[in-house]
Order: sequence, then structure tokens, then C-alpha cells
Amino acid sequence: MIQISVVIPVFNEEESLPELTHWISRVMDTHGFSYEIILINDGSTDRSWEVLQELSLRNNRIKGLNFTRNYGKSAALDAGFKRAQGEVVITMDADLQDSPDEIPDLYKMVKDGLDVVSGWKKERHDPISKTIPSKFFNGVTRWISGIQLHDFNCGLKAYRNKVVKNITVYGEMHRYIPLLAKWSGFPKIGEKVVQHQARKYGYSKFGLERFLNGFLDLITVSFVHKYKKKPMHFFGLLGTFSFMTGFLITLWLIFDKIYSLRNGMKVREIVDQPLFFLALVALIIGVQLFVTGFIAELMTSSQSKEAEYKIDEEINFDF
Ligand code: UDP
Ligand code: MG
Repeated sequence: MIQISVVIPVFNEEESLPELTHWISRVMDTHGFSYEIILINDGSTDRSWEVLQELSLRNNRIKGLNFTRNYGKSAALDAGFKRAQGEVVITMDADLQDSPDEIPDLYKMVKDGLDVVSGWKKERHDPISKTIPSKFFNGVTRWISGIQLHDFNCGLKAYRNKVVKNITVYGEMHRYIPLLAKWSGFPKIGEKVVQHQARKYGYSKFGLERFLNGFLDLITVSFVHKYKKKPMHFFGLLGTFSFMTGFLITLWLIFDKIYSLRNGMKVREIVDQPLFFLALVALIIGVQLFVTGFIAELMTSSQSKEAEYKIDEEINFDF
């Protein structure tokens, strides 16, 4: 087994690739690591793929995957993870913002027992429109996940091979890989302060929409994680609450009417009262939430059971 796989998503980074791969190879050779560099071309419209082909001719440890179109950073990482053979898998961005000089320390931290080591760009070289929302994003993510990282979205991370083989990165989930790792049973998550440079070539592929998308993804990822196996717990709770509210109001209306009639007080028509309509709406919404919960339960129970559990090790299985 080789020691290190470096997984790099590439989207229109033709200028950076030669410098990046040379730098990585230099670091690996200096430290005597066995390695592979897996570059995933995520539908670049520039010459990235051609550059990559040339580079791989000169160094057979440079491996390339070419997507048919732009699928996004998460998909690129996932494809790289599925193929990575190294004991330690290191991801980094292709734009030279992350320094390959961090590789030896990251490798050591994983070898010393951590499942995931996340880079922390303590001193960032990005515009302020990016750094301030990023602080907020990281705070919310810490709070929801309970994982004490400063910089979830850092492209530079290291994983034990087993970790990347047991998670699926989809959608825009590349920002939440530490959460995915923790929920898949890999809780030893550490952090390392890393050097960060301003982008040398090209342009950033993520604009301000990243923060809204990131936030929506966070809600999805925490919701799905919590209720995937038991959607009725979510819908049922809301449904019960709504139904009970409607039911109690109805009881009150009936009681009020009977009481007033008995005591010869002035009575209002039930349909003249706002409370009646509130009760009606609450009852209907309650029932609807319940039905939604049932349907969600039916869907989850009819889903294939594939990959619902994680296998840590297998013995005597090789044929
Ligand atoms: N990237 C990708 N597919 C995309 C967008 C980005 O593979 O659709 C890659 C990009 O080439 C880079 C990494 O993801 O290697 C991070 O992108 P970028 O540097 O633009 O993000 P930022 O540093 O601005 O967060
Ligand atoms: Mg970048």
C-alpha cells in the first residue's frame, strides 16, 4: 500500500497545475513518501485536461480523471476518494492557495491516530467579503455539529483511508466532510494551522451564493442525519402538536356554547368566531403532517438497505 494519495479537484486551473504537481512531487521525494496524485478534471473549459495529460506522461504517479461535465467539487472529491489507495488521503485545492509543504505534518497527525485532520487558514488571504460570512458559517456549523473546528471549508484536509471509503460526498457536501466522517463513526477530528496564499492564477469558483447554499445544506445535512430513519418522529411531533391545539380549541368552543346556553347568556354562532377557523386549520394541518410522516416512513422502509451500516473490518473474506 502506498503512503499518501493527494486528491485534487480541478476546474479551470490550467496555469496552476504544473507548478502544483512539481511542488507536491518535490515534497514527497524530499521525505521519501510513496504517493499518488489524483487530479479530477471537473469539466474544465480551459486546457486543464490537456495539461494534465502532459504532466501524467512525465510522472506516472500523477493520475487523472476526467468528468464529462462540471459536476461540482463534492462529486470530484468523491470520485477521487473511491480510487485513492494511500494509507492517508490528503485533499487540496488546485489553485496553489494551499501549500503542499503541509503534507508531512498532516500525514504524521493521521498516522498518530486521528481520523480526520482539517486545515485552519488562521491567517487568510481572501477578500473581506469572504472572511466575515465565513466566520459566521463556521460558528453555526460548530454549534450544530458539536465539532470544534475553526475552518470547516478548508480545502486542505487529511483522512485515514478508511474514512474516505465510508463516506459519500454529494451535492455541495464538501463543506461538511468532517460531519459526514463523525456520523459514520470516525470521531477523532483534529485541526492544524496551515499557510494560506492569495490566489495566484485564475479566479474563485464560488461567489457569495456559497453562504446561502452552505447554510441550506447545513440544515439539510443535519435534518437528514437526524430523521432519515425515523421521519415520523419529526412530522408526528408537529402533527400531534397542531392536532391537539385544534382539538382543545374545539372542546373549548363546545363547552363555551353549552355553558352559555344553559345559563341563558347571549350565544354567538360557532362559525362567527375566529377561534373556530383557527381550530379548523390546526386540525387539518395536524392530519396532513401525520400523513406526510406516514408516507415518509413508507418511503424509508422500502428503500434498499444498501450502505446503511459501516463495516470496519472483514476477516477471511478474500476468496
Ligand atoms: N472546483 C471544482 N469544481 C467546481 C468548482 C471548484 O473542482 O465546480 C475546484 C477548484 O478548481 C479548486 C477547488 O475546487 O481546486 C476550490 O475552488 P476555489 O479555489 O475556486 O474556491 P475558494 O478557494 O474560492 O473557496
Ligand atoms: Mg481557492
